[in-house]
Amino acid sequence: MAGMASNQSKTPEPCGADPQRLRRALPSIDLCLRTALNDARLRHLGRAYLKDLARRVQAQLRANQAEEVEAPTNREQRLGQIIEQMAALALSDEPKLCRVVNATGVVLHTNLGRALLAEAAIEAVTMAAASPTNLEYDLSSGSRGDRDTIIEDELCELTHAEAATVVNNNAAAVLLVLNTLAAGREVIVSRGELIEIGGSFRLPDVMLSGGVRLREVGTTNRTHLHDYEKAIGPETALLLKVHPSNYRIVGFTHEVGIAELAALGRRHNVEVVEDLGSGALIDLSLYGIAREPIVGDSIAAGAGLVTFSGDKLLGGPQAGVIVGRRQLVERLRRSPLKRALRCDKMTLAALEATLRLYRRHDVEKALPTLRFLRRSLEEIQLVADRGRVTLQRRLLPQFKIDVTDGESEIGSGALPTVRLKTRVIRVSHPSMSPEAIAAMFRRARPPVIGRINDDAFLIDCRTIEDPGVLEVEFAK
Ligand SMILES: *Cc1c(COP(=O)(O)O)cnc(C)c1O
Repeated sequence: MAGMASNQSKTPEPCGADPQRLRRALPSIDLCLRTALNDARLRHLGRAYLKDLARRVQAQLRANQAEEVEAPTNREQRLGQIIEQMAALALSDEPKLCRVVNATGVVLHTNLGRALLAEAAIEAVTMAAASPTNLEYDLSSGSRGDRDTIIEDELCELTHAEAATVVNNNAAAVLLVLNTLAAGREVIVSRGELIEIGGSFRLPDVMLSGGVRLREVGTTNRTHLHDYEKAIGPETALLLKVHPSNYRIVGFTHEVGIAELAALGRRHNVEVVEDLGSGALIDLSLYGIAREPIVGDSIAAGAGLVTFSGDKLLGGPQAGVIVGRRQLVERLRRSPLKRALRCDKMTLAALEATLRLYRRHDVEKALPTLRFLRRSLEEIQLVADRGRVTLQRRLLPQFKIDVTDGESEIGSGALPTVRLKTRVIRVSHPSMSPEAIAAMFRRARPPVIGRINDDAFLIDCRTIEDPGVLEVEFAK
């Protein structure tokens, strides 16, 4: 600031640009605070925050003083100006996390928060947030309980595993398993399964963090049972199978199935673990969705432990579920890492409620994830037609808005090659690029996140159930 002041010329200037007079006219922070506490728009705010607002406004005024042509020179006017700007700042200071419209058509969009919770799960979260619960309290004995008991029975029922536990997410689940069962020893993985999943989950890096040594076997496209067998030695702690999630190797390929791998592990007394990624609890092909590996099948095939995400195809909250042999799950529970990676009460409430929905005969209707994946074209068409009318009312007539065919992805590494037929609203403009239109929709309230395809901005209606959400306010 001092440097800025010395740059001012000495010739008389409009009073607003004179730093001396301006500084004299800046009221103290305390005076700003006292005045703000009498202002209807500001008095509900705390003192520390109001002082911070006053400092921010004053800093802005000092920074802009050179450009200010008609700055007030008396303290009264200055104070009024500062209070106005504080009120404007407080009003524009919206929460960072906000509701958006998922118009990408990607049902499990990691950047938009993946699975939407079912009604029952939302109620359970609210209950757990608002009331004390028996999170770790055994009501029959009146003594300390284990939070795993909340979800263990349901998970065992659904997967036929002996035991189950849950941590913060599937990355944490893999880390916990590797560290507990194989720290300082070797883990054998096929070169075709050394994957990276968006958002920095790279298997070799997770291995490093888990303190295990990676032993790669086979080639990118073909790995055989004898590749694993040859690599097994005194240092081997685990055979790990990883679902390739968001990519597929096609053509001249071979992989070893979990049943064969489990049999090999038994022969050599080595544990076998599978990271299923998404992992379906039920056969989705019964509901008209392409088949994704089922957790229970891997357990039946002899995997010692299986890990998968709570917020992918399962349709619940972010969590990493681990099911398998009791003795292995007990070892995980005793690890100090388990305590560091554990889930909170709201997650457990949502997960339990979600799992209980799988007991219903109409689970495919109760879970939003499955509902979105199964939507009929007719249903999507209705939303697209209503959405088109809404947007026509809200946008200038130069925008061309029509409804056409499209294809949606499932997302989050589930069924990466599957495309679902959908209907999209195409928005174009004679002088705006699709990127500029996308940016305009992102600036709307609530923001609408679409996608760009074939050089047009598209609103995929697969992930919109209520066309009313397109009644958005565009920024001026
Ligand atoms: C998605 C995925 C993960 C990471 O799961 P998060 O729940 O996002 O931590 C790990 N492994 C595989 C195979 C996955 O598909």
